[in-house]
Amino acid sequence: MASSPSPSLVDAHGRTIRYLRISVTDRCDLRCRYCMAEKMTFLPRSALLQLEEIAVIAERFIARGVTKIRLSGGEPLVRRDVGELVTRLGRHVGAGLDELTMTTNGTRLAEHAPALFAAGIRRVNVSLDSLDADRFRHITRHGDLTQVLGGIAAAKAAGLAVKINTVALAGLNEDEIPAILRWCVAERHDLSLIETMPLGAIDEDRVDRFVPLTRVFERLEREFDLARDGHRTGGPARYWRVDGSGTRLGLISPLTANFCDGCNRVRLTTEGKLYACLGHDDQVDLKAALRDGGLSALDDAIDEALRIKPRRHDFSIERGATPAVARHMSVTGG
Ligand code: SAM
Ligand code: SF4
Repeated sequence: MASSPSPSLVDAHGRTIRYLRISVTDRCDLRCRYCMAEKMTFLPRSALLQLEEIAVIAERFIARGVTKIRLSGGEPLVRRDVGELVTRLGRHVGAGLDELTMTTNGTRLAEHAPALFAAGIRRVNVSLDSLDADRFRHITRHGDLTQVLGGIAAAKAAGLAVKINTVALAGLNEDEIPAILRWCVAERHDLSLIETMPLGAIDEDRVDRFVPLTRVFERLEREFDLARDGHRTGGPARYWRVDGSGTRLGLISPLTANFCDGCNRVRLTTEGKLYACLGHDDQVDLKAALRDGGLSALDDAIDEALRIKPRRHDFSIERGATPAVARHMSVTGG
């Protein structure tokens, strides 16, 4: 018989899990150079969790104390039935969930923004690594900047707050980051800068593109008045206020500043594996548990993930090394 699960989600290091990130698809309509290889092999559709299974798993997490869910991918808005999922999970906002949110590349945001808002989403993160159309196309391998800016404008018009995510990349956009922050201030977006992480094989060596955010920050400090902000999300970012504006700047520095002590999150992949840490390969198979043993087996599997959640990730980025983790960010949900 299955053991009775502990109602709340506390890991072996005493951290309470309140945040679930879900990769709803590993597919994407872009091929950002730091994220994917040009020729990616995606999972067969038969391997993916069905919408109903994602919803059941998410609802089990809500029942056990998760208060925030982020839908990500891959590109979440390329999954055909994602609207249904958003509507279903949106019903829990204010009734268990404090927040349902999404990370998107923005290409299909114009079409989806009103429905996201109607379902209860209030904030989205949009990835934007350059405001120059040619550079944007180069980094994403074929993205159209106008389309993404249109998506961001539509999101704002629909009532969604937009936070911009920018991965700092040497030789590709490092010199543009002050301009991106200036634009965020003018457009009233928050900005999170991210260090490139060694997740999954790509076509180039990440060492060549890696920029420590300490270097970016020194440059930003020369132009902007930045005041440390105590805002905490239990996540990896440290925050600053850009003086004289409503913009908050976040730095996500997994390589140069470890943030694991306060970690409050777990990640569900497209194929139903629960990773307790982005930087480790240990996982439990929630899809198999749910299909073979129903809700009680699902609870047991979640408990197992809490037992194996490591104390910290051990990312490092070295020339010629194979990535610390073989799976791409798109599988686990960034
Ligand atoms: N497609 C959506 C997007 O781009 O926003 C959601 C998924 S994407 C994997 C989520 C975030 O992860 C994006 O902000 C992206 O820039 C970031 N990302 C992807 N691969 C990364 C890597 N290897 N290191 C750091 N950030 C990465
Ligand atoms: Fe797609 Fe997002 Fe990865 Fe870019 S970062 S390839 S948009 S999943």
